[in-house]
Amino acid sequence: LFLTFEGIDGSGKSTQARRLAEFLRAQGREVVLTREPGGSPGAEEIRRLVLEGDPDRWSAETEILLFTAARRDHLERTIEPALDAGKVVICDRFADSTRMYQGLSRGDLRGLVDRLHALMIKREPDLTLLIDMDPDTGLSRAKGRQGSEERFEDFGPDLQRRMRAGFLALANEFSDRFRVIDGGRDMDSVAADVTDIVMQALR
Ligand code: C5P
Repeated sequence: LFLTFEGIDGSGKSTQARRLAEFLRAQGREVVLTREPGGSPGAEEIRRLVLEGDPDRWSAETEILLFTAARRDHLERTIEPALDAGKVVICDRFADSTRMYQGLSRGDLRGLVDRLHALMIKREPDLTLLIDMDPDTGLSRAKGRQGSEERFEDFGPDLQRRMRAGFLALANEFSDRFRVIDGGRDMDSVAADVTDIVMQALR
C-alpha cells in the first residue's frame, strides 16, 4: 500500500505521517516512512540543490526537471523496492506537491509537470491524505519551527491560500484516491481520522 500525505506548509502532515507509521508498526506491519523532495541519497542531494541557497538559482522549468529527477530516483531506490517487498510506504509529499508548487507558483506549468510525470513517474499513490488547514494557522505553526529550511516566507500567505485552494481542487480531480481531513483540530483528533481511513483501506 502506497500512502501519501499532502498539504500546505505547517499543516501538520509530517507529524501525522510519523504517528501513522508508529501506529502501523505497533500492529506488526512493515512500514517505510519517507519524504519528498528527498527519500533516497540522490534525491536528498537534489533537495539541497533546490531548497537551499539562492531561490532564483533555477528557472521554473529546470526546477521541475530537478524535482522529477529526484522523484524518479526516490521511486527506483526506495518506494518501489519497499512496495515489491509488501511493505506499507508512507510518503510525506509526492507528485501532488509538484502539481501544486511547481505547477502553480511560478506561472501555469501544470501541463509540463503532468507530461513529465506521464513520461518518467507514472505511479500514483493508492491513497492520499490531504491535511487541509487555514494558511494563517499553518503560517504561525511553520514559523515557530526551529532550523526550518522551508521556503514558506518566500511563498507568503497569498500563495499559501492559492495552494490550499489548489490542493482542494486536486482532491476533486483525483477523488478516487484523495481523502480530505480537517487539520485545524487538535493533533489527536486528526490522527484518529487518519488511522480510521487507513485501516479501512487496509481491509
Ligand atoms: O514538506 P516540507 O516541509 O519538507 O517541504 C519543504 C519545502 O519545500 C516547503 O517550503 C515546501 O513548500 C517546498 N516544496 C516545494 N515543492 C515541492 C515540495 C516542497 O517547493 N514539490
